[in-house]
Amino acid sequence: MTSAPSLVVPNLDSLALAGKRVLVRVDFNCPQDESAAISDDTRIRAALPTIRELLSKSAQPILLSHLGRPKGKVVESMRLAPMGARLQELLGSPVVILKESTGPAVVAAIAAAPKGSVILLENVRFHDGDEKGDAALAAQWAALGDVFVNDAFGAAHRDHASVCGIARILPSAAGRLMEKEITAFGRVLEKPDRPLVAILGGAKVSDKLQVVDHLLDKVDALLVGGGMAYTFLAAQGRAVGKSLVQKDQLDAVRAAMKKAEARKVEILLPEDHVCAEAFDENAKAIEVGAEIPDGLMGLDIGPKSRERYSGRILSALTVVWNGPMGVFEWPAFRAGTEAVGRAVAACPGYTVVGGGDSVAAVEMLKLGPSIRHISTGGGASLELLETGTLPGIQALQRA
Ligand code: AMP
Repeated sequence: MTSAPSLVVPNLDSLALAGKRVLVRVDFNCPQDESAAISDDTRIRAALPTIRELLSKSAQPILLSHLGRPKGKVVESMRLAPMGARLQELLGSPVVILKESTGPAVVAAIAAAPKGSVILLENVRFHDGDEKGDAALAAQWAALGDVFVNDAFGAAHRDHASVCGIARILPSAAGRLMEKEITAFGRVLEKPDRPLVAILGGAKVSDKLQVVDHLLDKVDALLVGGGMAYTFLAAQGRAVGKSLVQKDQLDAVRAAMKKAEARKVEILLPEDHVCAEAFDENAKAIEVGAEIPDGLMGLDIGPKSRERYSGRILSALTVVWNGPMGVFEWPAFRAGTEAVGRAVAACPGYTVVGGGDSVAAVEMLKLGPSIRHISTGGGASLELLETGTLPGIQALQRA
C-alpha cells in the first residue's frame, strides 16, 4: 500500500530573510469589470500577511502573478498595474510596478528599488514558457532573487514555471496564505476529528468522481447533492425523469458505491427533490418524493433531504464542502444549498469550504464569518481533495 502524500511544507520561519531578495508567487488574478477596475480584491488582501511579514523582516519582496489567459502574448488589458495600485493602497507603502517580468530593465529596476518597497513584476503568462513549466524561464526568474516563497494557493495545482519551476531552483517555503490553506486541508485529510463528513455537489459527476474515490478512503459519510446526484440515483435504478444524468459514468458510480459499502462509508443521496419542467430560472418549482416523474428534472434537494443532510452536518466534528446542492443561482432552487450552508456554519466542528460555487453561495448567504476555513482556490482545493497533494506543494517539499 502506498502511503498518503504528506502535507508538511517548510514555512517562512525556515528561511533566512533579512536583506534577501524574496521572489513571491502570489495570485492576483482578481475579477475586473469592463473598465478594468478590480471588482473583488480578496486575493490581494489574502497575500498581505506574507508581504507585510517580509517587509518587517527587512526582506525585499519581488512579486510574480498571472492574470487571465494571455496565452504567451502581451495583452494590454491583462497588465498587473491595477493590482499593483490596489496593493500600494492596502499596504500604505510603495509598490514599484514593472512592465516586464524578465530582462535587463527588470534587473536594473530591482537593483534601484528603494529600501522597503515592494516590486511587482508583469503578468507571468505574457511568457508562454510559464504555463509550459519551462525550466529556462524559471531560471531567469530565479536569478532575480535569493529565495522563493509560494503564496499562490489558487495556482498551486499548476506545474508552471512561476509556481513549481522556481521552487526547484531556490531555497523555498510556503507563504502564510499557502500555509493556512495546507493546514486547513491537512486537518481534513490527515487525522481529522471524527465523524468526518464530506458534502459534494455541483453539475457533473464526471468532474467529481476522483474526489469521491479519494474521499471514500477518508470520510465517515459522503452527502451528495446537485446535478451529480442524479447519476448516482439512476445507477440505483431510481426514476430521475429528465434530470442531468451522465450515462457513460453509471459504471464508475456503481464502482464508487461498491467501494463505499466495502469501507462502511455511508453515501447519502437525496430522497426528495425540487423539480421543474425546464432548465429555466422562471420555471415553476415542483416538490416531488424519491421518484422523479417523466417530464421533470431535479434542480435542488427537497425538504426531507435538507433536514437529513443538516442533521448529519451538525453532528460532525469535521466537515468539508465542495459544490452546491442545486441551481443555487436561481432563488426557487436555492433552499438545499442554503440549508447545507447554514448547517455548515452552525456546525461546532472544524469546517472547510472549497470550490468557487460553494464559496459564492457562502458569500451570498453571508455565512463566511461562521466557517473556519474558506479556501481561496477553487480548482486547487478540488485537486487537493482528489489527490491529497498538489504540484506546488510537492515542489516545496523537495529535499
Ligand atoms: P460545478 O462547477 O461542477 O461545481 O457545478 C456548479 C453548478 O452546478 C452551478 O452553477 C449549479 O447551478 C449547477 N447545478 C447544481 N445542481 C444542478 C442540477 N440539479 N442540475 C443542473 N445543474 C445543477
